[in-house]
Amino acid sequence: MKEKNTENLMDKLISLCKRRGFIFPSSEIYGGIANGWDYGPLGAELKNNIKRAWWKRFVHGRDDMVGIDAALIMNPKIWEASGHLSHFTDPLVDCKKCKNRFRADEITPPTPPFVRGGKKDDFLERGRGGVCPNCGGELTQSRQFNMMLKTFLGPLEDESAVVYFRPETAQAMFVDFKQVLQTTRKKLPFGIAQAGKAFRNEITPGNFIFRTREFEQMEIEYFVKEKDWKKNFEMWLEEMKQWCKFLGLKDDELYFHEIADNERAHYSKRTIDIEYKYPFGQKELYGLAYRTDYDLQNHMKASGADLNYEDPATKEKFVPHVIEPTWGVDRSVLVTLLSAYHEEEAPTSEKGESETRVVLKIPKALVPIQVAVLPLSKKEELSNIAKNIAKDLREQFVVEYDETQSIGRRYRRQDEIGTPYCVTVDFDSLNDLAVTVRDRDTMKQERVQIAGLPEYFNKAF
Ligand code: ATP
Repeated sequence: MKEKNTENLMDKLISLCKRRGFIFPSSEIYGGIANGWDYGPLGAELKNNIKRAWWKRFVHGRDDMVGIDAALIMNPKIWEASGHLSHFTDPLVDCKKCKNRFRADEITPPTPPFVRGGKKDDFLERGRGGVCPNCGGELTQSRQFNMMLKTFLGPLEDESAVVYFRPETAQAMFVDFKQVLQTTRKKLPFGIAQAGKAFRNEITPGNFIFRTREFEQMEIEYFVKEKDWKKNFEMWLEEMKQWCKFLGLKDDELYFHEIADNERAHYSKRTIDIEYKYPFGQKELYGLAYRTDYDLQNHMKASGADLNYEDPATKEKFVPHVIEPTWGVDRSVLVTLLSAYHEEEAPTSEKGESETRVVLKIPKALVPIQVAVLPLSKKEELSNIAKNIAKDLREQFVVEYDETQSIGRRYRRQDEIGTPYCVTVDFDSLNDLAVTVRDRDTMKQERVQIAGLPEYFNKAF
């Protein structure tokens, strides 16, 4: 099989996602909503598999981790204390000619230094030196734009009812720190994990599910003694590298970007952005930051609560320091699909004829459908056997039963959605009580006894 290059990869992937039911434009029958996407049946499976695998690996798989599921709308004082109300801003510029809006730090050539969320003065020059990427027109001076999504809680729409949809999942882990500590009696070092929705009023959402205003994150706040931060930072960096491998990402698709001192958020002493080489450029996939004791200290001051940790051996009291690895769920889905997308020249006959097949080589642990059961014909004698096989396998695996269209077309569909195995029931099955199992990646077929299928797939997954 010869691999073909994949030009226009984003267009092809977006079209496949819509055609096969991974990801659809949201609210489509009403004309859509700006940059809103809905996960369809296969996309929801893939996304849930990624989240489940993350939880299993980092929460269930470790003795030093616990998970929480906090409210989306929290007391707005949290966002004051965390600095989000004053600092969670992006520099916005308008084009004087075509009236389009851009993030000043994304305009080339940008005017350094570029500190997002920094003080107002840092940005006065932002946007200068760059022209409108759309029409080449002159840009306005940049102004700070807060990305928090506001709403009102309760029936009164006045200032006292203003609340915010969380712009990150992280703050709940700081705010709940004391309660988690008391109820779990964990000792340092230990971490709190959470996965869930976050909302940001992004100036320039786009590139499919790369940047949206509503998205999901998986975050860990890992509490350590100050003297231990370096080794724990390295430990999490390695964990994140292993996770990228697990998603099927290759080393040459990734870049570990050490953020320079003058570009880091003011509370961070070290940050590495894990970047991916997307078809639209090299950009952030995940982040890893040493946040010092900044957050707990701030919440302690603002709330008056005692967020100290008492060392059980020495009785010493101190505020723990924090390493924060953070993963975007939607970007995880996007890179898994991008890396998995292959176009191959595949033989269709012994005479050397071939056709291009599209195959998603999604890691087996993450595929939406694990086994497809396909009777060669709709005739009852075959479909009865096939339906029974599907029923049995469904007890352990995610199975799709499909008897429509030609077998070739059904294989193509399963390749395109990344199903690792197709089980084909043919007329020989009536006599030898065996079926053909086709492998997605090699396209090799082997004969397997029907009674042995559960064991076969238990070994395979
Ligand atoms: P970027 O520089 O791309 O805006 P960020 O540095 O603001 O990202 P963080 O605040 O570190 O992002 O958020 C943690 C993770 O959440 C990111 O690494 C990314 O995977 C994901 N993420 C952030 N913003 C978005 C968004 N608007 N849409 C989808 N995922 C996002």
